[in-house]
Amino acid sequence: MSGDLVVERPEGLYCPSGDFYIDPWRPVHRAVITHAHADHARAGHEHYLAAVPSEGVLRARLGDIALQPVAYGETVEHRGVRVSLHPAGHVLGSAQVRIECGGEVWVVSGDYKIEPDATCAPFEPVACHCFVTESTFGLPIYRWQQQHEVFADINAWWAANAAAGRPSLLMGYSFGKAQRILSGIDAGIGPIVVHGAVEPLNRAYRAAGVGLPPTRLVSEVTDKADFKRALVLAPPSVQGSPWQRRFTDASDAFASGWMRLRGARRRRGVDRGFVLSDHADWPGLMQAIGATGAQRVIVTHGYEAVMVRWLQQQGLEAGAFRTEYGDEAIEEAAAGAETPAASQGSTP
Ligand SMILES: [Zn+2]
Ligand SMILES: [Zn+2]
Repeated sequence: MSGDLVVERPEGLYCPSGDFYIDPWRPVHRAVITHAHADHARAGHEHYLAAVPSEGVLRARLGDIALQPVAYGETVEHRGVRVSLHPAGHVLGSAQVRIECGGEVWVVSGDYKIEPDATCAPFEPVACHCFVTESTFGLPIYRWQQQHEVFADINAWWAANAAAGRPSLLMGYSFGKAQRILSGIDAGIGPIVVHGAVEPLNRAYRAAGVGLPPTRLVSEVTDKADFKRALVLAPPSVQGSPWQRRFTDASDAFASGWMRLRGARRRRGVDRGFVLSDHADWPGLMQAIGATGAQRVIVTHGYEAVMVRWLQQQGLEAGAFRTEYGDEAIEEAAAGAETPAASQGSTP
């Protein structure tokens, strides 16, 4: 439709009235970035606009970019279009983009999560006429336990391993998931060791005022006996790598929303799977959509067809945008190398 505030273009989601893109996947002149995960925040744009708390993580990943940081709720006017960013509860600095023009309001969600956690500002419902939503876990089978129960499970697993003198190797994405785990676990159980891809992001979180327990790199552990009681946090890409072979006697585990799927733990070949996601589950997606009051919903990256059909059955006008955002697996690929995240800003 001609009056749409956001449309699909080969470069990414585009606002014609404001002449800017949201999380574009090809280099553009002006990019509004919802959050610093690699599939949403790519290198090569001339100008970036993003929420203030995302500045550290964006710079850790993309280096010296032309970034205009904007506080949550602050309005920026551009070519008669009012743009503001609102917390999405997904990772540090994550934002929904509110676009207002001629009395019409659209909100592009990026990735979001409903359950608040200590590492980022909680999701804020924003009223709009049209809501562009992610659908990473947009199937009714996805329902999360409360996070305190998941953290209790992780603590129990770690404590049992420590008592047996085995390291606990927990794999999860290095940006967002790792810091959420760090903020949720009981750091009194033993030392915490992190992979080199995780620590630059820990630093960015701490610099933004997020409290995380002390962490050490493998190279900083002088007494190897410390490993026996340690929780070792690493990105999934270490699986089968020489890095992992230091911890041959470890119990290994994987933390992800995908662990909710039957057989996922076995396919990963790990001892334990913890269902912990930084995305909304099905009830969360429905709650978020309902809270916007939007009569029109456009579904992106995930289970678009299922959600579109469901929303149409609820009497809403629903459609989908094809995007090049991946699931967390793409984020993993970009975050998972041995080198610190800071040096791989151009990884797509
Ligand atoms: Zn994300
Ligand atoms: Zn995403």
